[in-house]
Amino acid sequence: MEIKFTKAETLKAKPQPGDKLGFGHIFTDYMLVMPYDEGQGWHDPEIMPYGNIDLSPAAMCFHYGQEVFEGLKAYRTAEGKVQLFRPEENFKRLNKSNERLVIPELPVELGMQCLTELIKVEKDWVPSKEGESLYIRPFIIAVDPFLGVKPGEHYLFIIILSPSGAYYETGLNPVNIYVESKYVRAVRGGMGFAKTGGNYAASLIGQDEAHKQNYSQVLWLDGVEQKYIEEVGAMNIFFVIDGKVVTPMLQGSILPGITRKSAIEVCKSMGLTVEERRIDIQEIADAYDAGKLDEVFGTGTAAVISPVGHLKWNDKVMEINGNKIGKISQMLYDTMTGIQWGKVEDTFNWIYPI
Ligand code: PMP
Repeated sequence: MEIKFTKAETLKAKPQPGDKLGFGHIFTDYMLVMPYDEGQGWHDPEIMPYGNIDLSPAAMCFHYGQEVFEGLKAYRTAEGKVQLFRPEENFKRLNKSNERLVIPELPVELGMQCLTELIKVEKDWVPSKEGESLYIRPFIIAVDPFLGVKPGEHYLFIIILSPSGAYYETGLNPVNIYVESKYVRAVRGGMGFAKTGGNYAASLIGQDEAHKQNYSQVLWLDGVEQKYIEEVGAMNIFFVIDGKVVTPMLQGSILPGITRKSAIEVCKSMGLTVEERRIDIQEIADAYDAGKLDEVFGTGTAAVISPVGHLKWNDKVMEINGNKIGKISQMLYDTMTGIQWGKVEDTFNWIYPI
């Protein structure tokens, strides 16, 4: 499909090497917008100056949460090349979210075309300092001005870009995680596997409680018995128990993370045993007491690998691996960031050059 390009009258000053980028508050000069209208399908994609969009206050996405999104990054290698990490996986997952929220399918090739053309236009915004990247946020919203509860007939697919700082400025820092025992995030049969705003809205109160107790993130338990481990706010969770890598299986209530999938492949390629199964939080406490809980880490696009230093479940505080980074966590971090920034050979064929 042809993508229209509307030039911005003026360009913004780009952050300079050394500037603090933080996360998610600086936006580039352009965004991509593509409407969907029933009968017409997705049509007329346009790369246009980044700016506010005009929506009816009755637009359906504001009222019933019919929206989906994705998150990925563009990386700059030491040679100055720009590359993406498994971007087709994001568009495949977007379509799984679409299906759950009754949003029309966006063909993966069309999504990829929109994304690559936008990144080509905005290439100079991909930071070059170690660990920095250009965060990419594709999303779809229902825009029909209608207050009835039903799937929309009109949507916008939008991609915005945000240069973001290194997640770890001083090396891999273990995080402290609080196990949420009162609230739940999602249930099987619900929309936990979809990347949609409602799941994050449901998680805010737990996050708030964790912060009050000086923990940085929440580990969610299943929504029925509240004893099986699900995932962290924006990360999947892994345990190393007695040398085996164990992670919750995908049963519809957690996000199938692309970093999770990649970490499993890397572990298997190293000859490690990986188990995807239900994990009772009591099993983790018992393994800890028996001295067999070697490592705990989260996986996600933002941090790649995030070692867990302390895990608090009710009154029990478990200090993992002496609050230090474990061997498998470090190996995964080095391998995956190495591939993303072009420092390690991409034997898995995960890199998509721009
Ligand atoms: N779980 C949730 C709820 C998330 O928001 C994320 C971040 N997308 C993840 C897991 C990790 O997914 P990925 O590895 O694809 O970033």
